[in-house]
Amino acid sequence: MSTTPPPAIFFTDWDGTVTLEDSNDYLTDNLGMGYPKRKIINDKILEGSLSFRDGFREMLESIPTPFNECIEYLLKNVKLDPGFKEFYNYCEARKIPIIVVSSGMTPIISALLTKLVGEEAVSKIQILSNDVRVDDNGKNWEIIFKHPDSHFGHDKSKSITEYLEAHGFSAAQNQDLDGLPSMPKLFYAGDGISDASSAEKLEEISKSLEKNDNNDKSDEDTDSLLFAKSGRDLIKFCVRENVAFTEFNDFKDILSKLKSIVDDGVPVKNFVENSKVKANEEVKETTK
Ligand SMILES: [Mg+2]
Repeated sequence: MSTTPPPAIFFTDWDGTVTLEDSNDYLTDNLGMGYPKRKIINDKILEGSLSFRDGFREMLESIPTPFNECIEYLLKNVKLDPGFKEFYNYCEARKIPIIVVSSGMTPIISALLTKLVGEEAVSKIQILSNDVRVDDNGKNWEIIFKHPDSHFGHDKSKSITEYLEAHGFSAAQNQDLDGLPSMPKLFYAGDGISDASSAEKLEEISKSLEKNDNNDKSDEDTDSLLFAKSGRDLIKFCVRENVAFTEFNDFKDILSKLKSIVDDGVPVKNFVENSKVKANEEVKETTK
């Protein structure tokens, strides 16, 4: 590879992760069907009797407000994570790409990003999300899912894979001509069930990198880290499925850990809070 790869790539969920409120829940609760009815749909999604895609569409269809008014309403009410701006500035300085991977809608995310972070951020932060079709008079609108065949509507793991491949990073070929690792460290921050497929994708990429490395990897570092927001559904998923994660309250926590890893060379595995990575290493130790 002729160009120097970035030290890391940071994928992040948007709603409830970069913003404090989930904009889609906020619209549904305040302008649409309201919280009690949304809760019934949410429970069906959680127990698996309804797909995220169909439940989400039903919530959005209950909102009678024109799309532009929805955006105005969100711009007035949705707040940014208190540490995100500093995190963004740090990533800019270190040339770490930030990619928003969202189950929401691109026009809403762009509008909020412009207002909350700044005009420049929209050109720097790539958004991988669903779109919206708004009709001529602007009154009627509907979500256009990025992956309509996926039960998530937007399969975040597919978007992560596509992004990495489009930028020349492949889990199957993790060394450049000089034998140096070409895959940067991968991070993902999220809070909800729709982030589960991203969490699993990061683990899968890490595992395939380990498999493709010729040398013994047991004393080397993990290649990815999932940041899961305190007290939210993603942590419950990670604990249940034994997916490695580190907890965060806001992007100040994330920035502090990222700085330790990127600037000070602290191993990623030092931040993993559940025992999977450690357990795997013990197995490797005894079978070496
Ligand atoms: Mg979220």
